[in-house]
Formats: sequence, C-alpha cells, structure tokens
Amino acid sequence: MSKPGIIFDIKRYSIHDGPGTRTTVHFKGCPLSCWWCHNPESRSAAPALLFRDEKCIACGSCVKACPRHAVSVRNGALVTDEGLCVGCGACCDACPAEARELCGRPCTVDELMPQLAKDEIFFREGGGVTFSGGEPLMQPEFLIEALDACGRVGYHRAIDTSGFAGKSVILETAKRADIFLYDIKHMDPGRHKEFTGVDNAVILENLVAISEAGAKINVRVPFMPGLNSGDENIKATGSFVSRLKGVVGVNILPYHTVAKGKHDRWHMDYRLNDLLPPTDAQTHHAAGILESFGLKVHIGG
Ligand code: SF4
Ligand code: SF4
Repeated sequence: MSKPGIIFDIKRYSIHDGPGTRTTVHFKGCPLSCWWCHNPESRSAAPALLFRDEKCIACGSCVKACPRHAVSVRNGALVTDEGLCVGCGACCDACPAEARELCGRPCTVDELMPQLAKDEIFFREGGGVTFSGGEPLMQPEFLIEALDACGRVGYHRAIDTSGFAGKSVILETAKRADIFLYDIKHMDPGRHKEFTGVDNAVILENLVAISEAGAKINVRVPFMPGLNSGDENIKATGSFVSRLKGVVGVNILPYHTVAKGKHDRWHMDYRLNDLLPPTDAQTHHAAGILESFGLKVHIGG
C-alpha cells in the first residue's frame, strides 16, 4: 500500500470549488500564512490537536483516554504535552463536550476512493473532485496518486492551489488535472510577502509554466479591501492574466468574516478584526477593470 497523505476534511456538494457539484478533499499543511486564511487550523502539515477550553466540563475523560499519558491537569488547567502526543484522536473520541478535535488524519488513496465514489452521480452530471487545502501541492506523491486514481475512473479533477510549489511538482500535476483554481493574491512581491509570508515570484512563474503546458486555469483573486483592492494591483493582475493561455475565467472572491470566526474558535490571533467586506460597488469596480483586459469575470466562488 502506498504512503498515506494527511487530509483534514472531505466536503461534499460544493458548488464553489470548480465546475458542477464537487467533492473537495482538503489536504493538511500550507506553506503560506495569509492574514485572511479560512482554515488556520490546517496550516501545519501534521495532524493537530485543537482544544476549546470554553466547552470543557473538566470531566477528565481525555486524561484517562490518552494511551501516551500526554494529557494532564496542571494547576487546575488541562495541558497536552505536544512532545508525547501522537495525534491518535483517542482523547477527542472520549470527550463528551466536543471540546477536543483532531484536525488531520492519515488517508491512503485506497481509502479515499470509496469516499469519493459515494458522490459519483454528481461527477457524471458535470461535477468532479477538487483537491484543496491547505495546499495540495505540499503532498505531491499522494496528490499525483489520487489524481491518477480519479482519472482511471473518469472523475473530473480540479486542483485548488496557491501555486507555491516546485515547478516540477506543479507540472507533473498539470499533466493530470482537468482544471486549476489558481490564486493570485497580490502582484507586488513585497505586499505579497507581507500578507502571505512568501514572495510571489514562484507563484507567478508556476502559473506561466502550467499555462504554457496547456493547463486550463480559473484564476481566483481574494478581494481584500485596503490590502489588494487598489486599482493599480487589479490592473497589474488583469494585465498579467490576460497574457496567459488557457485562462477560462477570473473569479473575484470578496472578503467575508468567516475567517475571523475560525480564528476566534481556535483562539488564534487574527489581524483583520476590523476589516469589513467590500461593498458591491468596490467589487464591481474591480470586476470592470479586469473585464477591460478582455477577461471573463465572475464575482464569487
Ligand atoms: S491525540 Fe492521542 S496521543 Fe494526543 S493527547 Fe489525544 S489521546 Fe493522547
Ligand atoms: S474530555 Fe473534554 S470535557 Fe472532559 S476534561 Fe477532557 S477536554 Fe474537558
């Protein structure tokens, strides 16, 4: 059996992750740390134990359930020793209050395929499977094996990616994917690094590379008021994208506050607490700029 990947969710009936009704497999781990990340609990590559202390009823079940004695009570507070924890999830299963949750679990392609097969009826009607994250390109062996397995049974395959990966990796996946959902977060390298933690050079180079290789690409622009919403950046995005081959459209994804809720839930710092979603006028203005470059623009996922 091949090496398992680490996934943290399989979302069914998605209508925003590519053409038709899709089943989205979320891979764990992401090399970026975007300020507006919708899945902050998925950033680390390994399974992560999440704890919501406000839900804990101090029953002690998790302490008893842990086979590694990683959970203990110190000074009246529940403590998990990350050095001992192996991410087995026994404490989560034992918790009666849903205060503990394991984000990420190992999964082989053999285990994944029967899960996907449950939604085959949608795949036959124009839907398919979307590999998302985290960042799916961070687990190339598992991704390529899953793409091949889906290809053998005729499932449409989309890769939802930041594009931050080795060129050889993304080109290998481009041989197999039916479409890329490819984020452009900012055209300015410095601003990109500030907002995501990484330079955009690799991302833009990879986008050109898959375009030249014949990939079908749906560009996605998370639209963040005051961060990347300025006319100059939108024009630079339109100019760059309009010169690529294989682009079937550009989606503007207006910022919303779901990310804040996720950060609050897991007690993670969130930098955009005061940021409001863009107005319809702002979003349509940006769409107009992109359309002026001859691009087919859609607002939303
Ligand atoms: S995930 Fe497993 S090893 Fe880690 S604390 Fe819970 S029971 Fe213990
Ligand atoms: S099992 Fe759940 S509710 Fe009980 S002490 Fe552990 S985290 Fe708290």
